[in-house]
Amino acid sequence: MSLPLQLAVQKSGRIGDESLDFLRACGLAFKTSPRGLRAVCNTFPLELLFLRSKDIPEIVADGGADLGICGEDVLAERGGNHLRVIESLGFGQCRLSIAAPGPLELNGARIATSFPNALRQYLDGQGVSADIIMLSGSVEIAPGLGIADAICDLVSTGSTLTENGLVELHEVLRSETVLFGSGSLSPEKQDLADRLVLRVRSRLAAQRTRYIVMNAPRASVARIRELLPGLKTPTVSELADPGWVSIATVVGVDVFWETMHALREAGATGILVMPIEQLIQ
Ligand code: AMP
Repeated sequence: MSLPLQLAVQKSGRIGDESLDFLRACGLAFKTSPRGLRAVCNTFPLELLFLRSKDIPEIVADGGADLGICGEDVLAERGGNHLRVIESLGFGQCRLSIAAPGPLELNGARIATSFPNALRQYLDGQGVSADIIMLSGSVEIAPGLGIADAICDLVSTGSTLTENGLVELHEVLRSETVLFGSGSLSPEKQDLADRLVLRVRSRLAAQRTRYIVMNAPRASVARIRELLPGLKTPTVSELADPGWVSIATVVGVDVFWETMHALREAGATGILVMPIEQLIQ
């Protein structure tokens, strides 16, 4: 039997659970144990490797794993040029930002961070010369201790910055959790990777869409079709009352919320909105 595809994911932490939930929603069944560093998938030739986020890009680049899931922030900091993002997974959104107790001239400033490479690249791009102070965590504390004038760290809501009396000044990069690879797999592994990516894309497409069914007067069908650009054309089925039909279609979740009132005004009633598990195109 051929070797399974090896996928490196965060062992524990902010995006670990969501990564596993996402993979399970792609029909991948596996069991994890608190101290287990590997898990074999029962429904697909896949082995999960549980690693620290920061090690994932290098292990994929070295061929120790075929694919990886981590934040783009980690890829920017630790990934080489030949790693390529295959798909953004729609969670773990954050930004890497420079923050300080107040307005600050960056030239000559001391900036504490766990992201020295990403910060250096940003500063060079801006033509700024600043001192980078490397800390592996709790960087928000550095200005208060007098060892830095500013910090460069990940922000999602900004509440940690506020709690520490810091204001966000410059966005260095935006990040989301991504599936990525090195782009150099054997034909057998590439075939498995393509099959996995199809599952991932089908799940992402499903998350962005809803299946909707409604009843409407037959005379309203043309107007409702205009309102709902579906996958192809909607299914229009007869109802027992000859003046009425049932209309079913798949729409983008945003389109649905934006058109809900217009649908009712067009005469639609009993509108059912259902989640989709997978949308394979
Ligand atoms: P952890 O190793 O648990 O700190 O997870 C960190 C990863 O979660 C980062 O690499 C980011 O991609 C993602 N993330 C999302 N929001 C935040 C945030 N506010 N702070 C830190 N990491 C975040």
